[in-house]
Amino acid sequence: MAVNFFQYRLEDLTDYIQSFGEKKFRAQQLYRWVYGLKEFDFNNMTNISKNFRAQLPQLLNLELPQVVKEQISRDGTRKYLFDVGDNQTVEAVLIPGNNGRRTLCLSSEVGCNMACKFCFTGKQKLKKRLSTQQIVGQFVRVMMDQPEGEPITNVVFMGMGEPLDNPEAVFSASKILHSSWGINLSRKKITVSTSGLVPQIPLVTQAGLRLAVSLNASNDETREKIMPINKKWPIADLLEACRIHSRTSKDKVTMEYVLLKDFNDSLEHARELVKILRNVPSKVNLIPFNEHPDSGFHRPTEEKVNAFQTYLMSKDVHVLRRRTMGRDIYAACGQLTSAHKNHPITMSI
Ligand code: SAH
Ligand code: SF4
Repeated sequence: MAVNFFQYRLEDLTDYIQSFGEKKFRAQQLYRWVYGLKEFDFNNMTNISKNFRAQLPQLLNLELPQVVKEQISRDGTRKYLFDVGDNQTVEAVLIPGNNGRRTLCLSSEVGCNMACKFCFTGKQKLKKRLSTQQIVGQFVRVMMDQPEGEPITNVVFMGMGEPLDNPEAVFSASKILHSSWGINLSRKKITVSTSGLVPQIPLVTQAGLRLAVSLNASNDETREKIMPINKKWPIADLLEACRIHSRTSKDKVTMEYVLLKDFNDSLEHARELVKILRNVPSKVNLIPFNEHPDSGFHRPTEEKVNAFQTYLMSKDVHVLRRRTMGRDIYAACGQLTSAHKNHPITMSI
């Protein structure tokens, strides 16, 4: 029976191909054709012997997860809803940026067990961890949609799920994405975002990927109220893991901070944030809360967001405000879900 091509890192594909008596470099050729040249018909892979080409459909299939729905926002953001089997779906979002940057936000799980109070995905308990082929499949399916000369330039694991709760599939998929025989994305263009699974953070370092952490609060008391994981791994442990990552990788860690009205958006919080990040090589990414039904949280006013940002800047913190993209199609941070019955039809920007 043919097995799915997209589950295989190059070394696994090599083993598989060699088990049929074929040469090692056939795996590299297949990677080149499929990922590099977007060729899905084995018959057209002309540098592979005719005999082996004829055999390939029995050995490998090139099936991708089905797109159930595709939506395009007024700002050019595209959202894809994928069928991942067992009646489950996940979403991936392609976000256009400046200077030819196109960032694909991938999902790693259906639902999420971390249960952060402000997150739409977190309202759904974990239903399923995605396989390597389903993660790579999201990328390849979106890649196939891209016009010539407009490649996906960055990947962020900031869609549905906690990537470090599904490390095997996430790191295998990342390895496939950065293989020089295939998609050849630089490791530094792949970011893993975590709510703070401290023991797994060294896996990000070892894989050479960028690290983002959903900090979202400046002290344990506040963080515990919105992120249950903080009871297991409090801020001090999390920041120590970030320091080690940064020391080894020489990269700054991105600290994501969702601004929640009258909860973590005061200047007092900003002051505290500056203090706790003093010895952590990092940059802060401010994300004004994206509203969704029944969360109980609200987005702070523009003035509040600006004041928070200005304070951090005045203390020489490297701070960026994340642009809200795709809100009209419910594709912004923390708005992804597979519980589509809860979605309003449109939302105003
Ligand atoms: N599970 C991972 C990655 C997915 S969440 C993590 O938590 O890091 C990606 C980012 O979206 C996180 O930084 C999270 O704090 C943020 N987020 C979640 N819900 C949000 C919302 N409603 N508005 C704005 N940001 C949100
Ligand atoms: Fe899960 Fe991240 Fe949402 Fe928390 S913010 S519930 S970890 S997806």
